[in-house]
Amino acid sequence: MSEFDWIAWLKNKAQQSGARDDVVLGIGDDAAICSVPAGMQLITCTDTLVSGVHFPEDTRAADIGYKALAVNLSDMAAMGAEPAWMSLALTVPDMDWDWLQNFSEGLLDLAGEYRVALIGGDTTRGPLSVTVTVQGFVPAGSALRRAGARVGDDVWVTGSLGDAAAALQQYKHGPMQSMKLRHRLDRPTPRVAAGLALRGLASAAIDISDGLAQDLGHILSSSSVGAELELGRLPVSASLLDFHKDDAARWALQLSGGDDYELCFTAPPAEAFAIEQVMAAAGVTASVIGHITAEPGLRCLTPDGEHLALEQTGYRHFAEATHVH
Ligand code: ADP
Ligand code: MG
Repeated sequence: MSEFDWIAWLKNKAQQSGARDDVVLGIGDDAAICSVPAGMQLITCTDTLVSGVHFPEDTRAADIGYKALAVNLSDMAAMGAEPAWMSLALTVPDMDWDWLQNFSEGLLDLAGEYRVALIGGDTTRGPLSVTVTVQGFVPAGSALRRAGARVGDDVWVTGSLGDAAAALQQYKHGPMQSMKLRHRLDRPTPRVAAGLALRGLASAAIDISDGLAQDLGHILSSSSVGAELELGRLPVSASLLDFHKDDAARWALQLSGGDDYELCFTAPPAEAFAIEQVMAAAGVTASVIGHITAEPGLRCLTPDGEHLALEQTGYRHFAEATHVH
């Protein structure tokens, strides 16, 4: 199969999974043409997944396709943006038809779920690497940003933390013990509905790709504030608890493990009830885990009220270990 057969096949497949009226010209020309709705601002993000760095080498093609889009949808969610279009820059070692078909299925099934149209891309030969760019929009001026957290705001997270990092730890030390945890690593759920619902409620937001401590740290430095977290309030899945009963080891995964793709956001306490309601409507759990302080930096309190030094959690070590190698 040639590169041109592949592009023709993909074009056809893309049209079936997610045609949109606002795509004036999709795959097949030198570039795509899309219409941005009046009054909207265009939001653009790009993420690359490199084999062996951002996903284990044994990851199934369909899961790689899924994740390449999911991590970008997560960025859209963190901006409060409605995703609309994507392009795909794909580097593959060879034109393996089975692999390409499975990869496209994982990618385009998720695209169809969120009404995202594949409008173009590039295909090259080389070590496996997938770059997806997603574009979407927000009503002008209403995007969520990292800057905006204010002293006294609650700190929230969606879903639960630490599953993907626990899966990666199991993978590295083999054999994989929990397919539930592995699923959270391979198929993170982008919190798009939650992000949309937080417009006008959250003061700042980010998605957690590199671990809560690091990503919340970006909100803190962008907003020129600090935060205090209560470790006993970090939301934890039943699977994670099964494998990590030791508090300190579990907190390390939850604070420093990447790849969860949950949202971390801040909001005034007066909005807490409204947030609980919109999250329930979006079908997402959300928990308050601490609050914003004037004192800069991040402090973590154990349920006994003691300060936990982040180094104690293996913070640096895990920050490096969030990737496969
Ligand atoms: P050009 O040489 O003008 O860049 P290409 O042969 O790279 O053209 O691409 C032809 C068309 O196919 C373009 O519309 C491009 O967007 C699309 N395309 C190529 N590779 C991909 C891909 N991996 N995913 C989606 N569209 C692609
Ligand atoms: Mg090209």
